[in-house]
Amino acid sequence: MESIRLGVSACLLGESVRYDGSHRFDRYLVETLGRFVEWVPVCPEVEAGLGVPREAMRLVGEREAPRLVTGRTGIDQTSRMKRWARKRIRQLGEEELCGFIFKSRSPSSGMERVRIYTAGGEPGPYGSGIFARAFMDACPLIPVEDEERMREPALRENFIERVFTFNRWRALTSRRASAAGLAGFHSDHKYLLMAHSPSHLKRLGQLVANPQKVKPSVMYASYLPLMMEGLRLKATVPKNANVLEHLLGYFKKQLSPEEKQEALGLIGRYRQGLVPLVSPVTLVRHLVRRYDEPYLSRQVYLNPHPAELMLKNHV
Ligand code: SF4
Repeated sequence: MESIRLGVSACLLGESVRYDGSHRFDRYLVETLGRFVEWVPVCPEVEAGLGVPREAMRLVGEREAPRLVTGRTGIDQTSRMKRWARKRIRQLGEEELCGFIFKSRSPSSGMERVRIYTAGGEPGPYGSGIFARAFMDACPLIPVEDEERMREPALRENFIERVFTFNRWRALTSRRASAAGLAGFHSDHKYLLMAHSPSHLKRLGQLVANPQKVKPSVMYASYLPLMMEGLRLKATVPKNANVLEHLLGYFKKQLSPEEKQEALGLIGRYRQGLVPLVSPVTLVRHLVRRYDEPYLSRQVYLNPHPAELMLKNHV
């Protein structure tokens, strides 16, 4: 596995860069996820030259084009921030990022749900921070999240799955584009895609099925946006249970009726919310090893990220 580089709002790593010199250290990011990724910290306000301490700012004006304005003195820092963001995003292009974790609710770094105020100071609609908006517009396929949403287990899991997938994609595209390479990648991700979106799995399958008609580079360019769109959809309990039943089907000749009943019972308990997803997944992994099933041993669905991240453990 290549090293995974993630952009992150610097204050989440404990850097004292907030307007009042404080930070927003996030234990999960630093102590758990941080063991598996290389951080690329970014503080837009400090890097744009606003210093610490500085006057707090907020978004003011229209939802489509909010201004970044200091709270007390009313200085408009929008142009400065946008100029800096253009330059910084070009540099970040060299970093081969596989994702970005933003600080929630910040007028510079917030990914969404950042309050926009009217010129008269009344709270208005929500939008995105100036830097976060520019980053997401420039790099629409790179997975993004904020630390607040990441406290929700399903959203955290979905983001981390997309990050690890993006990293495998980067590894694939670091080699010469080939129809066989893409077909292998697609095959390894079959059940992961099925857990998120059977219809995306079908469309992606059609894309890789006709290599003689389309150049590999064209197939690659169409594959990634569709794959990321599919993976953004939630892997629900019924979709996961369906995948698990498919996987169990590979062992119908090896399992005794009692063993099969036991496995189906475990999937049923997962459906009912009595056991977490990790339980039936662990059972299938065990069957793959015991019966040496080579196709399934390559399935990312069974090992999408390191076990230490403790994902798929919630009911
Ligand atoms: S939220 Fe963004 S701009 Fe504010 S301190 Fe954190 S990294 Fe810097």
